[in-house]
Amino acid sequence: MAVIGVVALQGAVEEHLKQIINTGSEAIMVKHPRQLKELDGLIIPGGESTAIGKLMAHYGFIEAIKDFSNQQKPIFGTCAGMVLVAKELEGSESAHLKIMDIVVKRNGFGRQIDSFEANIEIEGMKAPFQAVFIRAPYIISAGDQVEILARVDEKIVAARCDHLLVSAFHPELTDDNRFYKMFSEMVESSMVSHSS
Ligand code: GLN
Repeated sequence: MAVIGVVALQGAVEEHLKQIINTGSEAIMVKHPRQLKELDGLIIPGGESTAIGKLMAHYGFIEAIKDFSNQQKPIFGTCAGMVLVAKELEGSESAHLKIMDIVVKRNGFGRQIDSFEANIEIEGMKAPFQAVFIRAPYIISAGDQVEILARVDEKIVAARCDHLLVSAFHPELTDDNRFYKMFSEMVESSMVSHSS
């Protein structure tokens, strides 16, 4: 059985754990970088990226997650998690993990529409997905290798590149588990290549 961890330093953790269990994987709350050794996949949740980034640096997560990513083990960053994996952030702010070839704008949808829901088309999914955006970032630009999965008003809000998946919205807040199925498939195929 796939073991998927959720970085539990700050932000939305419980809902991800439930979704992981509902999709048939084992879910682990990750509070220390040494736990990454037990995992086949990792979710970096939404919350406040500046706070999570500081805590990650403090507890030694930065190198550990980079190492996890270098082993091609799947990582799913949602909302602040997407900010954290980006290679570059728009403006003067410095990036955190720098593992995915995307440039991200924080709070990209502006203050007037702090939170909203949108029924969006996702590449590879037959029916639209009800996406919940909360002070959401978006992807300004992505490298050639990055597959764009969804846009809202021309803005890129979901993408995938090799073992990395990101969404600007919060898939844990709806009953629709298609993103978790997509991620667990990524995790299962990476387990096959790790065992061979
Ligand atoms: N705006 C937040 C940030 O940049 C992300 C918000 C969220 O995760 N819901 O950290």
